[in-house]
Amino acid sequence: MLLHLGCTVALAVDPSAWGWPLGLVAGNQLVLLLAVLWPRGSLLGPNLTRLPASAVHRHEISLTFDDGPDPEVTPRVLELLDRYQAKASFFCIGEKVAAEPQLVKEIAHRGHSIENHSYHHNHAFALFGVSRLGREVDAAQAIVTSLTGSPPLFFRAPAGFYSPLLDPVLASRGLNYVSWTRRGFDAVSSDAQLILHRLTRGLAAGDVLLLHDSAPVVLADLPALLEQISALGLKAVPLTTACASERGE
Ligand SMILES: [Zn+2]
Repeated sequence: MLLHLGCTVALAVDPSAWGWPLGLVAGNQLVLLLAVLWPRGSLLGPNLTRLPASAVHRHEISLTFDDGPDPEVTPRVLELLDRYQAKASFFCIGEKVAAEPQLVKEIAHRGHSIENHSYHHNHAFALFGVSRLGREVDAAQAIVTSLTGSPPLFFRAPAGFYSPLLDPVLASRGLNYVSWTRRGFDAVSSDAQLILHRLTRGLAAGDVLLLHDSAPVVLADLPALLEQISALGLKAVPLTTACASERGE
C-alpha cells in the first residue's frame, strides 16, 4: 500500500515520468500474485510445510485430508486409519460440517483432529477483504467447536492460495497456517498408482501429506500408503500432536 501511495504521489508531482511508478506497481502486483499462487511459500506469512524437529525425532508424519467430510468416503477412510492405528488431521469445509454433524463427531471421537478449511471453500478466497476472510474463518471455527468442543488450531486456504491479508486474520485467532510437504493431486487425478508415487517418493519423518477425503480414489491409495508408513517405522499423528510442544501444550 505504501508503494502504491508513493507511486501515486510521484505521478501527481511529475505526470510525464509515468514509466517507473507504473512499472513498480505492476512488479509489486506480480510478486503478490506469484506469492498467492505458491502454496508452499512463506512470503505472505508463516507457513508450516514440515513438522517441527521434535516430531521428526519421534519419527512422526501427518496425513491431512482436505475438503470433507464426505458421507460416502470419510467413514471408509476412518475404518482404514483405524486398521493401521493411524491418526490424522481433517481440514473440513464448514458447510459440509454443518451437513454431516454426526460424522464430524465420529472423526473427533476416533482421535483425529478437525481443522479449518474455511466455511464455503470459495476459490476466490485469496481475493477477499479482511472482514470477509474473518467471517469465513470464524464460521468454520464456530461450527467445528460447537460439535467437538475443541476449536481448530490449524488453517489451510481453499486450493492452497494464501491471501496477502490472511496472516493477521489467523494470528488474531491463534490459528497456524499449514500447507504440505508433498501431495498426490488426488482431487484432480484418478490414477491411484501415480498419486501413491507422488505421496511416497522420498517419504520421511516430518512430512505433511495432503490427501482429499472428498474423492473415492483416496480409498485405493490409503492402504498402500499406510503400509509404507508402517514399513518405514513412521507414526501417523494429527498435527495437534506433532506440534503440541511448539504450541506450548
Ligand atoms: Zn480444499
